[in-house]
Amino acid sequence: MTTAAAYAISAPDGRFAKTTIERRELGAHDVLIDIKYAGICHSDIHTARDEWHGTTYPCVPGHEIAGIVAAVGSAVTKHRVGDRVGVGCMVDSCGECEPCLAGEQQYCNRGATMTYNTRVPEEFQPGGVTYGGYSTQVVVTENFVLSIPEGIPLEQAAPLLCAGITLYSPLRHWNAGPGKQVAIIGMGGLGHVGVKIAAAMGAEVTVLSSSLSKQEDGLRFGARHYYATKDRQTFKDLRGRFDLILNTVSAELPIDDYMKLLNLDGTLVILGLPDNKLSVAPFTLANYRRSLAGSMIGGIPQTQEMLNFCAQHNIGAEIELISADRIDEAYERANASDVRYRFVIDAATM
Ligand code: NAP
Ligand code: ZN
Repeated sequence: MTTAAAYAISAPDGRFAKTTIERRELGAHDVLIDIKYAGICHSDIHTARDEWHGTTYPCVPGHEIAGIVAAVGSAVTKHRVGDRVGVGCMVDSCGECEPCLAGEQQYCNRGATMTYNTRVPEEFQPGGVTYGGYSTQVVVTENFVLSIPEGIPLEQAAPLLCAGITLYSPLRHWNAGPGKQVAIIGMGGLGHVGVKIAAAMGAEVTVLSSSLSKQEDGLRFGARHYYATKDRQTFKDLRGRFDLILNTVSAELPIDDYMKLLNLDGTLVILGLPDNKLSVAPFTLANYRRSLAGSMIGGIPQTQEMLNFCAQHNIGAEIELISADRIDEAYERANASDVRYRFVIDAATM
């Protein structure tokens, strides 16, 4: 077994503290990764604060992992020592059900093993629950380890493993591209990479942000239009405008108001996951034959496709690199939308 340094939280209102965890013995198909960077996703905050009511403590979050292969098991063929690699939200799945066979492991019928906070046998992760990327090392089966192309600096690649794929997948599924009007609600970690990816796909991108404070950045990332949603006039001006709206907001929104911005056959996709119910009037849906949908990260093959796409289009996340002892502060600032645009932990500081 390998002993790794980690930062864990022990209660919903607790603070992060340095600790050590064990990683399992390297199996034939396993890859040992020296973690270099870990992004802080808002899902980490929801989980650490138990906002989804299912957190096992102590909890080591982190599912935006970038690092270097330190060792490989005897049967590993996909990765070699020294390779630049990433790990996203999942570290295993059944591999046999219809979604798994279709490469959509996030919808595994038996439930994918998430990178942290999934109960697992002791031999999978000593402690009986998965521990994520706020750590110096991790052991992952090779099929769930992604290759990070040379073009993307590792610290900018880390957030792509969750934020990148979460936006790339619905943009592909709903055919974002030339001639399509795409709106992205929320210019946070997810939203800002969504703007870059949608623009690179050729769509006409509009950002719907609370205020205009990040407008300059949004236009620089490739958006053509930028609106403040605290201004009610925005909802009048944009009525019936969009083919696709991606909602990345981590808090409750008046979703009916946003549905009315969809054009004929338009779809609003829920990506942000606050713990509230949605309310949409039947007339809003029926009119223009609108759809309300949702999407969860993306499968392993599509995650590799996304990384290759980002390298080809020079896309990385905009990051603020922090030392591990500043995780609590980063959570507070992310909750206040005070981040441009992703906090990334430098694992060398653990
Ligand atoms: P983030 O970096 O904190 O960004 C969230 C953005 O939402 C903020 O930048 C802000 O945008 C907006 N926002 C926050 N509070 C708001 C409020 N009260 N009213 C209006 N707008 C508000 O978070 P993230 O990491 O991008 O994650 C966003 C959400 O996606 C989280 O709920 C997370 O759990 C979820 N998520 C889902 C998936 C999936 O697979 N579906 C994957 C990853 C994350 P503006 O400043 O532009 O208004
Ligand atoms: Zn995430």
